[in-house]
Amino acid sequence: MQTRIKTEAEIVAMRQSGRLLATVLATLKEALEPGMTTKDLAEIAKRELRGTGGIPTFLGQYGFPDVICISLNDEIVHGIPSTKREIRSGDIVSLDFGVTYDGMITDSATSVVAGGVKNSKIDKLLIDTEASLFAGVRVLKNGVRVGDIANAIQQVLDEGNYGIVRDMVGHGVGHELHEDPNIPNYGKKGTGPKLAAGMTIAIEPMATLGDFRVYIDVDGWTVRSNDKSLAAHFEHTVLITETGAEVLTQL
Ligand code: MG
Ligand code: MG
Repeated sequence: MQTRIKTEAEIVAMRQSGRLLATVLATLKEALEPGMTTKDLAEIAKRELRGTGGIPTFLGQYGFPDVICISLNDEIVHGIPSTKREIRSGDIVSLDFGVTYDGMITDSATSVVAGGVKNSKIDKLLIDTEASLFAGVRVLKNGVRVGDIANAIQQVLDEGNYGIVRDMVGHGVGHELHEDPNIPNYGKKGTGPKLAAGMTIAIEPMATLGDFRVYIDVDGWTVRSNDKSLAAHFEHTVLITETGAEVLTQL
């Protein structure tokens, strides 16, 4: 379905959904410690959302078996939390979460390094991937084209010579987790569908320290880089306004 211009009441619900989502991600970042399993983090996410009126959107979405996607290192997205998957110091941990509140959905992701280990290459990958997300946010306004967003993201990632993942893209969001149009992380200015004030989209660059090609693990879910290069993923749900944008999944 095509993303709709949201009503004021729908936007109010999405603001609350985004606030809940951002709070859970902040809690997970705070709790994250080497030695925990990815399932431990999923349990915290589940517990934090309980009693808030928020529902974990991903559980059962397309058959996904848990409340959150947690992807480590060369895993880019859609990792399934597991009691067997221990997080080690220096791992890149990508947390991708969705919250439904009053029928409206927001979607957001962040990547962090476990144990606060310093590694200049990895730190730069994370900083640049998040910067590319905000470069995409900065071009938003009524009438912006998908290619304008894609190009703004690509410019930042090309600068750092990263692999820009192409098989997964941003998207409209709100009534459904994935609404049209797709929002790729590379493209040409002035091309693609026009977006209007009142629409809500998820912008989500995924970048690797190597090649852009990916494959799906034998678990049928986890998307990994072909060349095993390390990856980062940042995502915000954003409301397009007349002259700019409002990031809904940020505290
Ligand atoms: Mg997401
Ligand atoms: Mg998304």
